[in-house]
Amino acid sequence: MSRLSVVFGGSRGIGRAVARLLAQKGHRVVVVSRNAELAQATAATLPGEDHVALSCDVSKEQEVQKTFETIQKSCGSVGYLVNAAGINKDGLLLRTRPDDMVSVLHTNLLGSMLTCRAALRSMLTQGGAIVNIGSVVGLKGNAGQCVYSASKAGLEGFTRSLAKEVASRNVRVNLLAPGFIRTDMTAGLGLRGQQQEAASAAAAVPDMERRIPLGRFGEPEEVAQAVLFLLESPYITGQVLLVDGGLQLAM
Ligand code: NAP
Repeated sequence: MSRLSVVFGGSRGIGRAVARLLAQKGHRVVVVSRNAELAQATAATLPGEDHVALSCDVSKEQEVQKTFETIQKSCGSVGYLVNAAGINKDGLLLRTRPDDMVSVLHTNLLGSMLTCRAALRSMLTQGGAIVNIGSVVGLKGNAGQCVYSASKAGLEGFTRSLAKEVASRNVRVNLLAPGFIRTDMTAGLGLRGQQQEAASAAAAVPDMERRIPLGRFGEPEEVAQAVLFLLESPYITGQVLLVDGGLQLAM
């Protein structure tokens, strides 16, 4: 199987930690995000040589197609695909604008469908492994995150079904569901959507940490370890792995 790995959302946060770990393990990595400069800056800091940075909006089918054509032409077939591109626009449902609903669903759910579909063209003949990044919120729900939760719950059904479709071709597909991880996405946590408008972020974060049995947010590198485990485990497919400090027990 090819040692070329593509990480969507690889420029920052969880995706960047995954890209770094794969590069440390000797993979050639393609870092993809909308912001080309940041993707380039991340690719340039990865250990090893020949890493590539590409700009692509995963919610746009033509951009995804073009990205995979470029990868196939200049780097070859993809062995590992990691879908870490994601956004949140949290808020109570009644306050959420329909165009924000569409952009969350298109980025988090449709985007992963499009990248999987494009990657499978070569994986179906050569084998491969895919990890989609869901969320504990997709499994348990959370007030103020209806749309985000729906996008991540959809990813669970998608992942379990696709795993069954492609298993006979030696392609594995799994979902990793993080809890609260310290990235740009959680930087302003506690101030969005719920009844916490008056609270300061500084006060809200310790409160959230009290809800996590391990007592702290996770680090992107801790998620990356689990992503690598799923990518490398030859007899695991169609599974959901929670990386959440025990949070699912408490929510
Ligand atoms: P982050 O730090 O905000 O990084 C998000 C990444 O996705 C960036 O590289 C971003 O780059 C890229 N991205 C966003 N929209 C994109 C689009 N339309 N097309 C291509 N790339 C796009 O977020 P993170 O915390 O690492 O989150 C990574 C994944 O984990 C997401 O799916 C998120 O929902 C999930 N997750 C995170 C947490 C958490 O606590 N942090 C918990 C559960 C699940 P550009 O902006 O340049 O495109």
